[in-house]
Amino acid sequence: MSGKLIIFSAPSGAGKSTLVQHLLKCNLDLEFSISATSRAPRGVEKNGVEYYFISPEEFRQKIDNEEFLEYEEVYTDFYYGTLRSEIDRITSKGKNIIFDIDVAGGVNIKENFKEKALSIFIAPPTLEILHERLKKRGTDSDVMIQKRISKANLEMTYAQKFDLVIVNDDLKIAKAEAEQAIKNFLNK
Ligand code: 5GP
Repeated sequence: MSGKLIIFSAPSGAGKSTLVQHLLKCNLDLEFSISATSRAPRGVEKNGVEYYFISPEEFRQKIDNEEFLEYEEVYTDFYYGTLRSEIDRITSKGKNIIFDIDVAGGVNIKENFKEKALSIFIAPPTLEILHERLKKRGTDSDVMIQKRISKANLEMTYAQKFDLVIVNDDLKIAKAEAEQAIKNFLNK
């Protein structure tokens, strides 16, 4: 069955990107939905791979043109959004789409696509562990880490709006749980 949507949302640092990258290698006919963002590339990120990197002005232009299925200003002047063209690009290949997006965006897409979508919330075991993981990752400044932690408090309250919550305590177990849930959903 193709053309289904798998949505992964979580407070950042909960390990969802690692899970998504793993699932893409699992022969589930999934393709990654590349979001547009106005933040700068981090580390080895490349335009058209992790994100389409565009300026805040270009982003606002696309909002005005109604090119987004959903978008959020996740931090001031840091826009993130899913382009309608991305859904067409992937479904026209006969593939299922996997999303790595923020909690509000995840809820939006689920409401839009209903039973065609499976929404999965990845929770960190505790917020203290989340803090440690963000520090270890070393890709954000202390100020940005503080911002992410205070946001994570709010993001945790969205968990109940998702079809499934996976606590990422042991990565191996979380991977297996996610893989099984997606297999069940795609075979329905
Ligand atoms: P990061 O800067 O760490 O790549 O992402 C910051 C947050 O933006 C993460 O929670 C990420 O999942 C979210 N995000 C990425 N793409 C999208 C999108 O297309 N829409 C929404 N609503 N959030 C997104």
